[in-house]
Amino acid sequence: MTNDRTQTRQLHYGTLPIGGGAPVVVQSMTNTDTRDAVATVAQIRALAVAGCELVRVAVPDEAAAAVLGEIKRQCPLPLVADIHFHHRLALMAVAQGVDGLRLNPGNIGGEVRVREVVAACRDRGVPIRIGVNAGSLERDLEERYGPTPAALVESALRHVAMLERFGFELIKISLKSSNVPDTVAACRLLATRVDYPQHIGITEAGTPLRGAIKSAVGLGILLHDGIGDTLRVSLTGDPVDEIFAAYQILGSLGRRRRGIELVSCPTCGRTEIDLIGLAAAAERRLAHIDLPLTVAVMGCVVNGPGEARHADVGIAGGRGSGLLFRRGEVVRRLPANELLDALVAETEALARERAASALTVATVPTPEDDCP
Ligand code: SF4
Repeated sequence: MTNDRTQTRQLHYGTLPIGGGAPVVVQSMTNTDTRDAVATVAQIRALAVAGCELVRVAVPDEAAAAVLGEIKRQCPLPLVADIHFHHRLALMAVAQGVDGLRLNPGNIGGEVRVREVVAACRDRGVPIRIGVNAGSLERDLEERYGPTPAALVESALRHVAMLERFGFELIKISLKSSNVPDTVAACRLLATRVDYPQHIGITEAGTPLRGAIKSAVGLGILLHDGIGDTLRVSLTGDPVDEIFAAYQILGSLGRRRRGIELVSCPTCGRTEIDLIGLAAAAERRLAHIDLPLTVAVMGCVVNGPGEARHADVGIAGGRGSGLLFRRGEVVRRLPANELLDALVAETEALARERAASALTVATVPTPEDDCP
């Protein structure tokens, strides 16, 4: 069982609620040159199509800050400006209508500047995310604690205290390390100290497969603890892949479902069709469906029908042929080379029916097979 969500305050990025019991928000960050507004908007649109709900762009200089208004006008998602050290860039970003800042107030050159940024954010209801990474801790904390969970929390609370001194509480916090146990410990500790919403992630997680696994372990533990109001799966690659991974993590925990959940067997000595190719092709060809449907791709009739019974649509292979199921009922037997097209057509038809009736109830298969 997933634990109850840790109760946090609620913030809004535009109209998007974060924390306070709202669904966990999936976010990502562009890796285009922000100064190239056309490329940045194109990537944001691709992220939105994939299911991203909040997007962050790096703002390294004035040229990047100067195009934020243009990006914002064409941006289908709430937009967050990621700024380090330069309070002028933060003021430019807020003036151009961004929905959030990622900025550490202790790093922008003193209280006068913090006061200016806070005043601008308060006027426009723009939240600030304080983001502390193990790699960029203040020197005194590093010396006192080392790059430990306690140091991450202490650093975040310093930044929080600075904003609270000016009466500003539209705060979200992230504590990140590339070390999973440290990140988990830090986020757990933070949750005992403050009730601001937490953005969770494993930083520098790595290339898509490694990074997704590392993120799934860390974020899975935290989400199961009830910690995490928004998340990012940081991957070295196309940020669109981060969205797919994020929904797989949330879906595995029963938190949020989006798109096809593909249930496929690992194959074994009983497999008599090209199941690996079939599963990969089915995943690719069904990627455009965003309704939560379960599709089973099973290698044989030993476990296939059982699994397919719990899926919305499924196939179970046999010798040179296979069965097509829909909601547990056999639709027909087909030659092996027609299974993929039939599976895709049946799933698309079901998605159209569901969309038409606005019935998007997910089914969760019961694992009952004895596959290897
Ligand atoms: S026994 Fe399981 S793993 Fe082997 S082919 Fe059948 S469904 Fe797949």
